[in-house]
Amino acid sequence: MVALRSDGQPVVLEHSRAPEKMAADKVRCEACPVLCQISPGKLGACDRYGNVEGVLTRTDTLALVVRPGTDLVEWQAARGDAGWDGSLIDDAPVFVSGVGSTTTYPDYKPAPFIVASKHEGVDMVTVVTEGIFSYCSFKVKIDTDRYLGPEQATVRHRGEAVGHVSTIEYGSQFLALGGVHHLTGGSKKEGRVACEMMMALGNREPVELQIEGGATVVVAADRPPIVDGVEERRMRVGCGSATIGIFAPQWFGHADEVVVVDDHVTGVLSEHQAGKFLDMTPTGIRLHGRKSTPGRYFQVASPGSGWGGTDITDPLAIVEGWDAKHGARPGLRLLMVSTTGEDSAWFVLDEQLVPQPAEMPAEVRRVVERIGENCEPSLCSVLYVAGAGGSLRAGVTDNPVRLTRSIKSLLVNVTCGGAPVYVWPGGGITVMVDVAKMPAASFGSVPTPAIVSPIEFTMRLDDYRALGGHMGRVQRLEQLLASGAWRTVEASAANPWPLDRLRGAAE
Ligand code: SF4
Repeated sequence: MVALRSDGQPVVLEHSRAPEKMAADKVRCEACPVLCQISPGKLGACDRYGNVEGVLTRTDTLALVVRPGTDLVEWQAARGDAGWDGSLIDDAPVFVSGVGSTTTYPDYKPAPFIVASKHEGVDMVTVVTEGIFSYCSFKVKIDTDRYLGPEQATVRHRGEAVGHVSTIEYGSQFLALGGVHHLTGGSKKEGRVACEMMMALGNREPVELQIEGGATVVVAADRPPIVDGVEERRMRVGCGSATIGIFAPQWFGHADEVVVVDDHVTGVLSEHQAGKFLDMTPTGIRLHGRKSTPGRYFQVASPGSGWGGTDITDPLAIVEGWDAKHGARPGLRLLMVSTTGEDSAWFVLDEQLVPQPAEMPAEVRRVVERIGENCEPSLCSVLYVAGAGGSLRAGVTDNPVRLTRSIKSLLVNVTCGGAPVYVWPGGGITVMVDVAKMPAASFGSVPTPAIVSPIEFTMRLDDYRALGGHMGRVQRLEQLLASGAWRTVEASAANPWPLDRLRGAAE
């Protein structure tokens, strides 16, 4: 039988009844469906909760993100040793993040922290939780020309399938990792390994991935990728055609022909529109591969870890021949160079129109070096994507669709650990965030398996009331600060202050 309050609503208990056979000194965690029974001094299955002297305790503490430029030590000192003196704070010096905030399960329980504060004279509220996400994944951008593997190939971690190769964008290979299919749709081991890999990626730790039919790559957020044991240094300046377009005038007069070797679009200066504009003389060069448009060739070689993301180590391997009727001549000066400038060679055609290696002139060398100078450092970018449009919303409001609508109309700002998120258009609340902007060690996991990650919803207090928020659970920031049960983390200097991003917040 369900107990009812006098107003007819069901009673929501803080804890459900523990099983009768549970030992008296154990505590039961109800923060996820695993419902661990934890012995004294031990941790639950996820290491996030423990039994500390008979009390269920979160092993981490609520993280408050400190507003850039705020000296919290000074700020606290001004309030004396007793800490907060009971007065209201005009402008919140901290932002309450979901990191360490704990989770409430099942979903209809209000979120663990619903905190009101003032921002530029406006009453605001931030609802925070550590969400448990089965529907989540990572999109990883790896700045490299090297061939990582065929599109759609399976990506493995410790032998288990954890994702697949996605598209190549300009100078970068994308991987799609994790996701509900690997977490729940395969074997138990696949789910566990995928979950561990995802948590490590989110926490900016290095993860080794094997790509079927391709490379082994070590990926960590904001660090250079390591492809087959070699750390990548340079991200290409552009494709072969773009490189020709950028540097053509600087080569003009110093080389008769330049070939920029690229797995996707190899450029040939004399035939390219950039060479035509300089009125360059034809050279009669013939390349392997498929001519796309003048001076732009596809498939000159197979993909690999050689020049320009091809498998070649001898650049002349892509030259089919020279045609004297169309401009090939003894003494013709040829530069072959990769899209990063890391590989380059200089040749001069002999009497039989055979390219002979020669010392590269200083003027040409300078331009090759300039290609390298224009390359950006290669990095891995790790973006977390999570679907927060489901049951998690019930911890924020009793009418979840209003939260979704309020986010879409920019009345609610969503952040992850205080970091700005991109909210995907269309249905649901699908957010995407750069893990490098989140506080360290923001991610956890539970053995269901699923990922645990912080999420915050910030809005005007009036709007929260209007969308059916759990007003009875609102506490003031001042009360929270007085409790002392928190730690601080520095806001990333690149992040906008979360309370600033709200439409009309300071009106
Ligand atoms: S796995 Fe962690 S969150 Fe889930 S019940 Fe156990 S201790 Fe609690």
